[in-house]
Amino acid sequence: MRKLLDDCFLHDKDRLRHAEALAILRENVQRLAEPEDISIEEAIGRVLAEEIKSPRNVPLTDNSAVDGYAFSHSDYVAQEGRLPISRRIAAGDLERTPLAPGTAARIFTGAVMPDGADSVAMQEDCTTEDDALVMIPPDLKPGANARKSGEDLAEGDMLLAPGDRLRPQDIAALASVGRGRLSAYRALRIAVVSTGDELVKPGDAAIRPGQVFDSNRYLLKSLLSTLPVSVTDFGILPDDAPVIRATLSEAAASHDIILTSGGASRGEEDHIIDAMDALGQRFLWQLAIKPGRPMSFGRIRDCAMIGLPGNPVAAMICFLLYARPAILALAGASWRDVPAFSVPAAFSIKKKKPDRTEFLRGLLTQNASGTLAVRKYDRDGSGLISSLREADGLVMIPEHVTTLEEGAPVAFMPFSEFGVTR
Ligand code: AMP
Ligand code: MG
Repeated sequence: MRKLLDDCFLHDKDRLRHAEALAILRENVQRLAEPEDISIEEAIGRVLAEEIKSPRNVPLTDNSAVDGYAFSHSDYVAQEGRLPISRRIAAGDLERTPLAPGTAARIFTGAVMPDGADSVAMQEDCTTEDDALVMIPPDLKPGANARKSGEDLAEGDMLLAPGDRLRPQDIAALASVGRGRLSAYRALRIAVVSTGDELVKPGDAAIRPGQVFDSNRYLLKSLLSTLPVSVTDFGILPDDAPVIRATLSEAAASHDIILTSGGASRGEEDHIIDAMDALGQRFLWQLAIKPGRPMSFGRIRDCAMIGLPGNPVAAMICFLLYARPAILALAGASWRDVPAFSVPAAFSIKKKKPDRTEFLRGLLTQNASGTLAVRKYDRDGSGLISSLREADGLVMIPEHVTTLEEGAPVAFMPFSEFGVTR
């Protein structure tokens, strides 16, 4: 673990860089949750704790992909497409007798291909005589419109690994191989805390000059709603060192993670870092990024503690960039780097401070030639929730960049890659 210096006299170039902060989280954050047995009904978004291989072929048998007529391709060639209809096979029919040689079976989508048939003609392409004889057009290829057993999954194919987060299509795959239950890491208990004497709970009608409604707690609880966690809301704490310390200590005893916002800098009214240092251990604090410099990560005994900045924009950006992957890692998920897509900038930068990574709120747009470009939200300000609502994602401007010309490629990270979608 990197020993962090006291920040008082640090310049940006001495602060922890974005990539270093991610590396610290990636290398040091370990799974907290143990496995439990759950139903696939409850498995969406959960982290798998076992390896799952397909116990059988999917589909189980060869079957028809269309409604039509099943036949042997060699009979079809020999009889120039004229085949007597010898039987009818619907989806769900369990009888498994072979097809009589030289004939076709009326067949429906999903019905088992009888032995002796290898191809299917679509009913729209065929004509029949008295439902006794089918005329199949020429040039059908062997195997046409027939699904092969195991073409989706073969018995023994690797389906999912421990650490995979289950998506809707993963759950469909589990169901398709017949799994009803699975082993997943239990949901982490996470305590969410707002800090600040100026904060007022929304819904409490009165607000006085100097006060602000607490929005971060609702932002964070909403962001957590798609993660494998169960949230305890610890409400708003005053800027009072003993109260903060006592509450965090209590929360640490019964939670896996504490997530705070506000009070994260070195101001006289900021008590989060002192509490973390007094009760536990700090792994990172003070990043060379904008916004979100006072982001912190540490522990109180066995409880991880994540301190987000108070400004709502910084709180959301730091949550997405650092808290989210850390929480997922604590929940047992394999680390996943959020992809950044190269998109031309529809803005320029005249002068940026070196030695820090800046995250701009990016809005996708079309440039003059009709191709995709990204512009930046036109106002600065770490308190503008409007900017988060208008943006489609984050534009990452790396440390070494100090100027940028319009049209130059920039790294764009869509909010959807962080699980935030419309
Ligand atoms: P702090 O990090 O405590 O210095 O707060 C920085 C800024 O964020 C101040 O303007 C706070 O009023 C604001 N802020 C802190 N916590 C919240 C919150 N929960 N909801 C909305 N704004 C907040
Ligand atoms: Mg404060």
